[in-house]
Parts: sequence; C-alpha cells; structure tokens
Amino acid sequence: MKSRQIKAAETAKVRVALLRWYLANRRDLPWRKSRDPYSIWVSEIMLQQTRVAAVIDYYGRFMKQFPTVAALAAADEAQVLAAWSGLGYYRRARSLHTAAKMIVHELDGNVPTNSEALKQLPGVGRYTSAAIASIAYGEAIAVVDGNVERVLERLDGVARSGDSVWQRAQELLDTNSAGNWNQAMMELGATVCTPVAPLCDSCPVQHWCKLPGHDVRKAQPARKKRELIFGLARRGSRVFLVQRTKDESLMPLMWELPSVDASTHGNVLARLKHSITVSDYTILVVELAARSVPKGGKWISIEELARLPLTGLARKAFRKLDIL
Ligand code: SF4
Repeated sequence: MKSRQIKAAETAKVRVALLRWYLANRRDLPWRKSRDPYSIWVSEIMLQQTRVAAVIDYYGRFMKQFPTVAALAAADEAQVLAAWSGLGYYRRARSLHTAAKMIVHELDGNVPTNSEALKQLPGVGRYTSAAIASIAYGEAIAVVDGNVERVLERLDGVARSGDSVWQRAQELLDTNSAGNWNQAMMELGATVCTPVAPLCDSCPVQHWCKLPGHDVRKAQPARKKRELIFGLARRGSRVFLVQRTKDESLMPLMWELPSVDASTHGNVLARLKHSITVSDYTILVVELAARSVPKGGKWISIEELARLPLTGLARKAFRKLDIL
C-alpha cells in the first residue's frame, strides 16, 4: 500500500499540537501524580485488560496497602491476591508480586531504569517496559497499545500490523518528551479518537489526519451465553467456600462459592450477569443447606472474607447479597 503518512516537515507540528492538547486536557488520574517507577508499573499492570474507571479505586487501595516495592515483596501472595480480587486476570498480580521479590532480593530493591532491563521482570513485556521507561525515566521509546494503533491508522491512512506499528510509533515519538508523548497518544485514542464515532472536531491533529472518522472496528468473535449456579450455605455468621486447585489455569488457589447441580438447587437468592473474555454468564446464587455442602471446602467468617483472595465473581455475589 502506498504510504500517505505525514511528511517529515509536518511531524514537528503534529508533536507540538498533540502535546499542547494533552497538557491542557489530560484526565486527572492518580498515577499521573507521580514519576515513581513502582507506582507507574502498578498502574500499567492494572490497566492491562481493565478499564481506567475500574482501576482507579483498586489502584488507590493497592498503593495504600503496598506503598513501595519492598512492602509488596514482603507481603504474602494471599494478601496480594485479596487486594487484586475483582480486577481479574490474576496472573498479573502474581507476576507483579514475583517481580517485586526479584527486585528486593536480586537488585538491592532498585527498580530497573531502562526498558531492556525492565523487560526481564515477570509480567513486563514490550508495552509495559516502554511505558515505565518513558514515563518514569524519559527513555525515548514509543509504546503501542490498541489506542495508539488506531490513532496511527487514521492519522496516516495506513493499516499496519506487528512490528511496523511499533516502528511508525517510534518515528513519530517526541524524543524530548517521550513519557508525555506516549501518554498523549493513548489519551487521544481513549478520549477523542475512539473506536466508534471519534470526536474529530475536537481533535488536535485533525489537520493532518488522512482518515478522519474512519471506522477501524475489527470483527468481534460471537459471544457465548452460559448459565452457572452456585450455592450459598450459611452457618451463623460463617459462609461455606471452596478453593480452586493450584493447577487451575484460571484463578488458581482463589476462593469461591461451590457450584451446584441445576436439578437440585433450592431458592434463588441472587441473579447476576458476569462476562469473561467472549462469554456472557447468567449466574444464579441459590440457597444451599449446611448439611449438603461438598467435601473439601471451609466455613469462613464474614470478617475474614474481605482478606481472602476471592474470585471476582464470588466478590460480586457477596456484594449483591450485602454480605461484603
Ligand atoms: S481527526 Fe478524528 S480520526 Fe483523525 S486522529 Fe483525530 S479523532 Fe482520530
């Protein structure tokens, strides 16, 4: 495809326009108040696969509980998972915890200061290492996420994939303000150059855009619908929970309500919706007699629940039932 991308002479103007817009319009997000690499790292890991609005509260609580890399390294895995409970994709929390221990035990407590070294940490890939290195240390390295990819596609009028997107992002990067530039590109994609109905009239780079308003939505896989039934058994102020095994591919060792056979269930206590990747679940929480609980679980006091690594679904069910 013949490239129609912005001419080199115009690139400087694009940079000025976008950075100016970003500095005047950026959202006031808690992790933007600091250039501490640990704070930025935690926020970037939380923001993978999770919306900004959902991350804000979790981030505040997590940083209060584990304000430094040393505090995180010293915590038990169960405490870290409990703090993460509800955010989903628990592998992120485990990797963050393992990486914090590596930093404390092998790197004298110092977070690596460049993208190559950051990439050696568990759970830190090309995107996260570039985000931390550019924002915390000003390293001249571009990031690419879904937002950046979409902005580049519309701006240049060229659909790219793989390495060529990263190369183009690197060409356009303002190397003197790499951290702000990267955040500006992502912010533009998140708030103005949105997947559907972009706000081109408010866009600081509209003048240079080759495909204003272009619809770049990719075909989404069909969503599956399923129903799951969980039982809630109570004994005084205790509830019965089961723990997932350590071999489970999803949410190993986390606690949840026991599942119940559709043909035997009692009164429905709550009905909720839950979505994971490409599946939409209808969840029924039903009454389960204390004498009918499965083997291998545990009676847990309600006070203890908040400290336990619960699956997001269990937490949601307890909230719906006013137990948490
Ligand atoms: S003009 Fe519209 S399509 Fe182009 S970059 Fe701006 S918001 Fe996106």
